[in-house]
Formats: sequence, structure tokens, C-alpha cells
Amino acid sequence: MDHETPKTMGQQHGRRSWAEPWKIKMVEPIKMISREERAEAMKAAGYNTFLLKSEDVYIDLLTDSGTSAMSDRQWAGMLLGDEAYAGSRNFYNLENAIQTYYGYRYIIPTHQGRGAEHLISKVAIQPGQYVPGNMYFTTTRLHQELAGGIFVDVIIDEAHDPAHLHPFKGNVDLNKVQMLIDKHGAQQIAYISLAGTVNMAGGQPVSMENVRALRALCDRYGIRIYLDATRMAENAFFIQEREPGYANKSVAEILKEFCSYTDGAWMSAKKDSLVNIGGWLALNHLDVFEAASNLVVVYEGLHTYGGMAGRDMEALALGIEESVQDDHMRSRIGQVRYLGELLTEWGIPIVQPVGGHAIFLDAKSFYPHLPQDVFPAQTLAAELYMDSGVRSMERGIVSAGRDPETGKHRYPALELTRLTIPRRVYTQSHMDVVAESVKAAYDARDKTRGLKMVYEPKYLRFFQARFEPL
Ligand SMILES: *Cc1c(COP(=O)(O)O)cnc(C)c1O
Repeated sequence: MDHETPKTMGQQHGRRSWAEPWKIKMVEPIKMISREERAEAMKAAGYNTFLLKSEDVYIDLLTDSGTSAMSDRQWAGMLLGDEAYAGSRNFYNLENAIQTYYGYRYIIPTHQGRGAEHLISKVAIQPGQYVPGNMYFTTTRLHQELAGGIFVDVIIDEAHDPAHLHPFKGNVDLNKVQMLIDKHGAQQIAYISLAGTVNMAGGQPVSMENVRALRALCDRYGIRIYLDATRMAENAFFIQEREPGYANKSVAEILKEFCSYTDGAWMSAKKDSLVNIGGWLALNHLDVFEAASNLVVVYEGLHTYGGMAGRDMEALALGIEESVQDDHMRSRIGQVRYLGELLTEWGIPIVQPVGGHAIFLDAKSFYPHLPQDVFPAQTLAAELYMDSGVRSMERGIVSAGRDPETGKHRYPALELTRLTIPRRVYTQSHMDVVAESVKAAYDARDKTRGLKMVYEPKYLRFFQARFEPL
């Protein structure tokens, strides 16, 4: 199989490795500060890796958002920025790239993904309506709730089990959608909020079969499907690899077919599309487009830039094209898998199967002695940083926040620490260093006591909350 990592290939006769389809032209020095300095920095940051200074970080796996390396073509495109307020040439290039590769009709640029989430939530949700989604994403759900929607998780049950090996753990459970329709009526469903490679489930894909069946169900009731396309190109790669009938289709072809079953999409271009900033909303229906296009001038900027500079739109247009190349995607996901295989071999509990953009450490299994109230995944992120200067982030009870009705913590089944791999930034040696640090934290797991939250902001608390050791 051509997707195997060098390590597994090494066990076979006649080793053939894959390698990145690029070489390095410019480097950015990084350094590791001392253990004492790291402990001091972690304390000053309130044991929240979001509050660390970047210069105190050695290998930064906080997020894959806006952290990718641009190509020489993209940098060249930056010099072709047409910074006109209205009708920039770069907007038309961007619009053309989205229409070509994602297939949607109408395009609205936004400053990043949550700008687009804000617009679609305001336009397509009536207060009191339900918004079924395949697990939640933090900013997505918050915008849906702020627009008066009630989020309902309709992902398959397997997604909540970190050890389950279902190949498409991002799939929607159609029975859950049907039950919601039967209970409340189709008019009470705002739309289906469908995400490719479900971030909170561990970067798990949705199958083509599932989206096709979802489309058929929604067509019976006149319900629209809007796609969170943030990591949909990665999702397309998994379909190519795992779904019967797709092995000989390109990532680009699969991406376009998948999008064709949906009515529109929002995008954080900071992920798949290999740029540092940007986003968009794309729609197939003129009525929704006109409403969103009117709102974009209120919240983001004119409808031909939506908060992005012309040069950023140019880099994004080029990034979209690069992001759907099969060899790019193979090496991107291959690197994530390389790290996952090392950890699996060492018996460290991670979400399986390994997803698209990150390794998710299963903090509940890592620290079985820590109850969820003392924030095991937050604790693990702090321990990793103190061990090696590797920055990860929490995806568990802190990220889940409080129920808007009851004000109580939500207790997600998954309590995860995410090692997110930026695209085209780190080498295999960096992955080795990361794996060894996780192993060191695992060997020292019995000594860990957990954290208490001492400052809690109202919205998206994981970004700014502060903690102290117990
Ligand atoms: C990052 C992300 C968003 C939000 O996008 P921003 O560009 O960070 O505003 C939405 N959905 C998913 C799945 C994401 O990963």
C-alpha cells in the first residue's frame, strides 16, 4: 500500500518510503527553553497552553489553524494583491477556485471560518429551531446558539468511543435525524450542520454513502444541508482510501462530488487551504445568498473582500488548488499517521483510527485516576509542555463549556488532548521528539494530580480560562 509510513514499510523487504512533495527553501529557527523556564511560563499562563507566548514554545502543535507553510507560488501571489476596496481581481480568482474545486454557485468571503458561521447562523436559523450536527464544534455551536438555535448531536454512537475502529466515525446517524423530525416536525429543523472530518471526534471522516443517504432523507422533508468544509479535502482523502468505488478517483473529484450533496458550506481556510488567514461562505440558493451577502457588509466588509486583503484572497485561491492534490494529502495525513503509529506501538491510548489533522490522546485512559472535574486533558497539555516545550491543547470538558439552559458543565464522553500537526511545517524528527515526550508524560502519569479552574470566561472558555495545580 502506498500510504504506509516508513516505519511499517521498514519491516518489509524492499523498503519504499513516501516523502513530502516539496523541499525547504526558507527556515524559521526555534529553540527549547530550560525546564525551569518552562515551568515558570506554564504557571504564568494559568496552565492554559493558549496563554503561552509562542517564543516559549519549541514544537507548536496547538492547532493546524493558520499555521501552515505557504508555497513559493502562494508567496508570489501575495505580491499580486489588488487592494481595491471593491471588485478586487483576487476576489474573482478566489471565487473561481471555490466554484471549480467545491462546486458551489455563490461565494461570500469572510475574515475566517467563524465569520461565515455567524452569517449562515443568522440567516438560516429562526429562534427555537433545532440544528442537528455530527458532533459539535466550539465556534459553530456557539453561533448557532447565539442565533437562537438548539444544537442536537446526531453523530453515530461509535464516534463517542475513542477505541472503536469504525472507518467513518464522522457519519450522521440517520435514525437520530428521523426521530428529531418525527418529534418536532421538519419546519422546526433549521438545517443539518454537517462537518467533514469531525474535529471533536478526532478528525474522523464522513462517507459518501452517508452524505448521499442524508441528502435523500432531507429531500423528503425539504431540509437543507450546510457543510462545514474546513477539513473536507482531508475527508475526501479518507473516502479515496476507505470507501469502495473511490480508489481511482482523485481527491479533487471526491471533494466536488461530496459538496454536490449539500446546499452550501462555510470554510475556515486556515486549515485545509494552506493559508494563514481567510474563510468563506458558499451557497447554492439565491435567497440565502442575498441575505448573507447583505449581512457580510455589516459584520465583515464589502462582499468582494469580507475582511481579507486582496493578497490574502490570492494566496487562498492558490492554496485551494494545492490542497486538493493527491500527493500533498498523502504526505499530510501520512505524517499524522507516522506519529500515531509510534504512540500506538508504545501502548499510549489515542483515538483510533488516527484521523486527518491531529493525534488525540485519550486523557481518560491516560489518567484513569483523575475525574473529569479536575480536567485531565487540560492537565496533560500542561504536563507535555513542561516536559518538552511541545504545545498541545485540550478538547474535553473545558472546550465543551456549560449548558446554556442549566449552567452546568457539559461532560463530553471524549476527554482528549490534541496534538495538531500544521501542514508542511515540521519534519519526521519533530514527530519523533513529540512521541518521546508523550511517552515520558505517560511513564510519569501516576504522579499527576489535576487542576482547578480559577478564572472562567463566559464564551469559549477554553481560550482564556486559567487554572492552578491541585
Ligand atoms: C477552525 C474551525 C472553525 C472556525 O474557523 P476559524 O477560522 O477558526 O474562525 C469551524 N469549524 C471547524 C471544524 C474548525 O476546525
